[in-house]
Amino acid sequence: MIKVNNNFSKLQKNYLFAEISQKVADFTKINPDKKIIKLGIGDVTKPLVPAVIEAMHKAVEEMADEKTFKGYGPDYGYDFLINKIIECDYKSRGIDLKKDEIFVSDGAKSDTANITDIFSIDNKIAITDPVYPVYLDSNIMSGRTGEYNEFTKKYENVTYMKVIEENSFVPELPKEGVDIIYLCFPNNPTGTTLTKDDLKKWVDYAKQNNAVILYDSAYEAYITEENVPHSIYEVEGAREVAIEFRSFSKTAGFTGMRCGYTVVPKDLKIAIGSGEKIGINEFWARRQSTKFNGVSYVTQKAAEAVYSLEGQKQIKENINYYMENARIIKQGLEKAGYTVYGGINAPYIWLKVPKGLSSWEFFDKLLEEKNIVGTPGSGFGPSGEGYFRLTAFGSRENTIEAVKRLTQEM
Ligand code: PLP
Repeated sequence: MIKVNNNFSKLQKNYLFAEISQKVADFTKINPDKKIIKLGIGDVTKPLVPAVIEAMHKAVEEMADEKTFKGYGPDYGYDFLINKIIECDYKSRGIDLKKDEIFVSDGAKSDTANITDIFSIDNKIAITDPVYPVYLDSNIMSGRTGEYNEFTKKYENVTYMKVIEENSFVPELPKEGVDIIYLCFPNNPTGTTLTKDDLKKWVDYAKQNNAVILYDSAYEAYITEENVPHSIYEVEGAREVAIEFRSFSKTAGFTGMRCGYTVVPKDLKIAIGSGEKIGINEFWARRQSTKFNGVSYVTQKAAEAVYSLEGQKQIKENINYYMENARIIKQGLEKAGYTVYGGINAPYIWLKVPKGLSSWEFFDKLLEEKNIVGTPGSGFGPSGEGYFRLTAFGSRENTIEAVKRLTQEM
């Protein structure tokens, strides 16, 4: 008899953004004349840059010609893109990676979720709290967590590492042994970062405890401060313990294009008993070649163009535009008396909600009274309660208008 994967019934009812969309849709139905400003979901608004568009046009022409048409591409990505990734994202920072350590994919969401395939179900995971929900949900689906506890708002058999004001948003090393550690810096949702010294402690911990770090650096292009590492491999020894996820989504506005990549160093080896060690790189390669058929040629040509001189200049203009929005939100809110974090090395502003309100109550109040949509911190984990996320991805006009509304008495 057919049986479902019952782990799915352990998931909390709605994916956070579906719940927000529903609330906004309900509000709009009753208030069709209200101009809502959405600073909730982390999606870009600026179109693709000209260098990318030009590369795509060229690639489309190639696809239309018998002599240059491309069918299935290499499972792990075309060399022209992988070489650029190695040169521009890593070599330029003194990190030496080989071609077969890079796996081009359709984005960091799928990779951070799918990576669970190559690890045993018995591993214990550690996530930051609050957290990008995909890490937790993908582990719930694959059965690596226990049941949800309504009281603690946590899943059993998961280590939650607080990133909160009290610890300056730097997670503490777990006291109990954990096997898979998810770190995302610059962080979504808090917009905060770790220094190289902070990160070194994690690399050392992973080495001592035979753990693996899954490092999501989807927002590295937003780093403005010198002492913030762009890659975990800037830390000595990280190649032996860390997998890194990157995305063109926020770096180059590829949220609708779909392209990212994952780095699985060959030095990352895991003991399989009797002293023998196995390279995880081979496992991921096998997983991808079985379950994934590569990113389209046109998309990879577009991603390659991100690394051209023009491409770099143009994407930086967009990033600067978003970061100026971040500055406007941060300064506006601070002036209005809010306590605000993030917004310096990330396009996210993490603010403390006024005393006496929960994150969802603040969400409702903001929607109803200011017609602004943000994301309740509690949607990212129990320690997100009392916080609220705004994104800098809106238009300048909307950002200024939102700050104006936010700074008026509620
Ligand atoms: N990782 C983090 C931390 C994110 O915030 C997001 C998107 O919001 C992703 C990954 C998803 O990236 P992609 O669009 O490449 O799937």
